[in-house]
Amino acid sequence: MKSFKVAVLAGDGIGPEVMTEALRVLETVGKKFALNFAFTEKRVGGAAIDADGKALPDDTLQACREADAILFGSVGGPKWESLPPNEQPERAALLPLRKHFGLFANLRPAVCFAELTHASPVRTDIVAGGFDVLCVRELTGGLYFGQPKFTREENGDTVVVDTMVYKKSEIERIAHVAFRAAQGRRKKLTSIDKANVLENGVLWRKTVTAIAKQYPGVELSHLYVDNAAMQLIKNPKAFDVVLAENLFGDILSDEMAMIAGSLGMLPSASLGVKETPLGRFGMYEPSGGTAPDIAGKGIANPIAQILSAAMMLRHSFGENDAASAIDAAVRNVIAAGYRTGDIFTEGTKRVNTREMGDAILGALG
Ligand code: NAD
Repeated sequence: MKSFKVAVLAGDGIGPEVMTEALRVLETVGKKFALNFAFTEKRVGGAAIDADGKALPDDTLQACREADAILFGSVGGPKWESLPPNEQPERAALLPLRKHFGLFANLRPAVCFAELTHASPVRTDIVAGGFDVLCVRELTGGLYFGQPKFTREENGDTVVVDTMVYKKSEIERIAHVAFRAAQGRRKKLTSIDKANVLENGVLWRKTVTAIAKQYPGVELSHLYVDNAAMQLIKNPKAFDVVLAENLFGDILSDEMAMIAGSLGMLPSASLGVKETPLGRFGMYEPSGGTAPDIAGKGIANPIAQILSAAMMLRHSFGENDAASAIDAAVRNVIAAGYRTGDIFTEGTKRVNTREMGDAILGALG
């Protein structure tokens, strides 16, 4: 029996509702694959502000340090929106966690199931049969963090500066994550840059091309970011893994989430600098937020949280079979017609959060 310690930070809004279902799924898959999970549940976000006075209490951070991975819900909501920006749940909880654990690789699968193409805003013939793209975004470098960064008055005008900085080693590190992910998928990697204009882009392209030699089974291609934004909409099925620096990845992964259509279905992973024999330390969370409009009603879609747990098994614990079993169970319940409100259409079975969890547990056998 293998054992894993998981820090469970459900957060606010629908977080606790969908987290409950993800933990049930992990317990069940654990029994099947001889995995033991020690869950340490801690407050984060608005719930922690209310109870402990800050969004990331010390004992929550300590539990994360002691864990093998963090399973995160989401944080924030109208109640805390009037706080000063630095104290707001997202900024005061997520950013310190990213920083503390050096979470440099953001993985966002944009999967549109064949049965859910109606939810995509893209023309039906383009998304027919669904698609499955994995966006790998560099999360700790580039324009968002580069120095100098300032606003100042100069000769009667206002000047702003943001600086795009990458080290070759940072590009290599994220490229390895993307190539390894591609190895476990359809073995196609599209690297995004702006090598025709930016020094950063030139180094990015050169470095990714050099790393590709270590992954002969993966087919590498390059696209300028402006072209990529168009091609992803024109033919999302042509893509497998998309690798991009921080700003480009931020924009393209949101574009892909929108094309996929159902926020409640999309998980994410942020992988950290700490490597283990089984994978990397990481934080796993739904792509969506706390959904205040439906929080407390028990009707949220738990699938994004459940698939985030599957990503944790795959990327932090190296338990690919258990992860694939969860992915397959989700596919089966969707194929069988189970739908929470966000993905419901006439002729399918409308279920609430718990019932969707039950259906997935049933499909796990
Ligand atoms: P949101 O993702 O919470 O909601 C957008 C829409 O998607 C809503 O209509 C919501 O009901 C729906 N939705 C999202 N997840 C769903 C699910 N699992 N099942 C069914 N429907 C779902 O985005 P928002 O409304 O812009 O943000 C709400 C709050 O969440 C804000 O306070 C925001 O700051 C916070 N937020 C947190 C995170 C995070 O913790 N990582 C990410 C995004 C937003």
